[in-house]
Amino acid sequence: MMSKTMHIDTPLLEVDGDYSACGRPLLFKMDALQPSGSFKLRGLGLRCIQAAAGGTKGIVCASGGNAGYAAAYAARQLGLAATIIVPTSTSMEARNAIQTFGAEVHVEGSSFDDADAFARKWAADHGAAYLHPFDDPILWEGHASLVDEVVAAGKPFDCVVTAVGGGGLLLGIIEGLKRNGLSDIPIIAVETDGAASLHASIAAGRPITLPAITSVATSLGARRVAQAAFDAGMTDQVISVTVSDSEAVKACLKFADATRVLVEPACGAALAAADVHADLIQRFERPLIEICGGIGTSIARLQTWKETFGL
Ligand SMILES: *Cc1c(COP(=O)(O)O)cnc(C)c1O
Repeated sequence: MMSKTMHIDTPLLEVDGDYSACGRPLLFKMDALQPSGSFKLRGLGLRCIQAAAGGTKGIVCASGGNAGYAAAYAARQLGLAATIIVPTSTSMEARNAIQTFGAEVHVEGSSFDDADAFARKWAADHGAAYLHPFDDPILWEGHASLVDEVVAAGKPFDCVVTAVGGGGLLLGIIEGLKRNGLSDIPIIAVETDGAASLHASIAAGRPITLPAITSVATSLGARRVAQAAFDAGMTDQVISVTVSDSEAVKACLKFADATRVLVEPACGAALAAADVHADLIQRFERPLIEICGGIGTSIARLQTWKETFGL
């Protein structure tokens, strides 16, 4: 049945005004609690359901991170073979995590672009469905479900704060606002310095490919955003800001203490905006922050980053 979803309806947490420098009560959409540890299951789950309905026997996706993990999870639920192509930079921990869902992990190339080129070829050679980690309207449609859930919960909000990597999550939120008649709600799009491909593109007025990613927020490490994300970034609905790695890690530590939930620096970036860009966020009464989550975090890693940044 097409009504089946892979993702779950995640909780909405409320914290009061003294949580952050912006002084506003904040709503946290807790996608860190998805079975795949991040929001990625929303879009990739839908994509896998559609691929299965189309008769595919297998999927292939290039990602050493949360997209690969979510695709592997969804494929297992649907009984599809999953092949995840990771670059050499992907940690053993991440490779092992993907394998726990029965997916095959192939190591190819030193960057996402190399792994992605191989994934496309692999899909063509093996008749498998190729999955892109962020540049696909089906993914955006799936990610949009997070907005549907907040609206269904009846909690008013007047801006959405989200992290941006390749822009799939941003485009999903835009789609979700649109289909709920809320396109007048602005989105604060947050990147870390060293992974700020959207910010650089908006400043230049054309899509920019970063020479390298130098941020610890590796899940935001798309050197170039989707064209649709750039186009959205050029509209008034999207306000692009950046935070430092140190600020993102600090926000992860504060969030862990407050909620007892661990998230990646990619997610910490969105949380940090409420402190670092307090002047901007306090223009809104009920900010909604997308807690995008991520499996690339642990007590030990947060401790290491804490020391690295002298926090
Ligand atoms: C993928 C991811 C992002 C960025 O999402 P995009 O769709 O690439 O913009 C942010 N945070 C986490 C935890 C992610 O897994």
